[in-house]
Amino acid sequence: MKKINIAIDGFSSCGKSTIAKALAKALNYIFIDTGAMYRAVTLYFLDHQIPLDDPQAVSNALRQMQIQFERDARGRQRTILNGRDVEDEIRSMRVARAVSQVAAIPAVRRAMVHQQQNMAKNKGVVMDGRDIGTVVLPDAELKLFITARPEVRTQRRYRELLEKGLSISPEEVAENLAQRDYIDSHREDSPLRRAEDAILLDTSDLSREEQVQKALKLVEKLGIKPENTAS
Ligand code: C5P
Repeated sequence: MKKINIAIDGFSSCGKSTIAKALAKALNYIFIDTGAMYRAVTLYFLDHQIPLDDPQAVSNALRQMQIQFERDARGRQRTILNGRDVEDEIRSMRVARAVSQVAAIPAVRRAMVHQQQNMAKNKGVVMDGRDIGTVVLPDAELKLFITARPEVRTQRRYRELLEKGLSISPEEVAENLAQRDYIDSHREDSPLRRAEDAILLDTSDLSREEQVQKALKLVEKLGIKPENTAS
């Protein structure tokens, strides 16, 4: 059966990973959360106090790191860094505050892009991030660029963090999103931007179900049939 690659990009907390996960489930494809990879690198750099302005230290550290994805007993994807489950730690504010600076380092991007392209070479991948349609998978058969109004994104992220039991204010969340968006779209190396052939999807006024249905329709237009239900 024909398999394609799907690239999903956009600002932080627009619903990219919700859509990506649901598509991967419906199509029996592999979901790759590239943000988790940059977060895992950031956690390693913080824990090992790697100076970001020392290229030798950065490249040595990159060589020490192995990032993988595994599923837990409940089928949820977990990020594994050098054999350790770091899924919860990489979602912390400590990592969120530093990740965009780390992701702006060209050597870090080169290492991650190389791994991501390898993961997608046999097709059947849904990948979400900031540079997937432009740099990682420029030949992806379907590219989506997801947006949502800033206040909607703040609310979604805030609720997500509360559910995880983190105590944080909405103002802090808004500030972190704005800061990351600014750095991500202004960095020199592969800044966040919409690929010319990416389809724009604004999720501000759509339920989770509606977002997924819209994305699935676009997939079906390419002649790809879902194998499972999306939710
Ligand atoms: O997607 P998520 O919000 O988890 O990504 C965390 C950070 O990782 C982003 O703010 C961005 O700095 C970086 N990132 C990136 N390129 C990607 C995915 C994420 O630079 N493809």
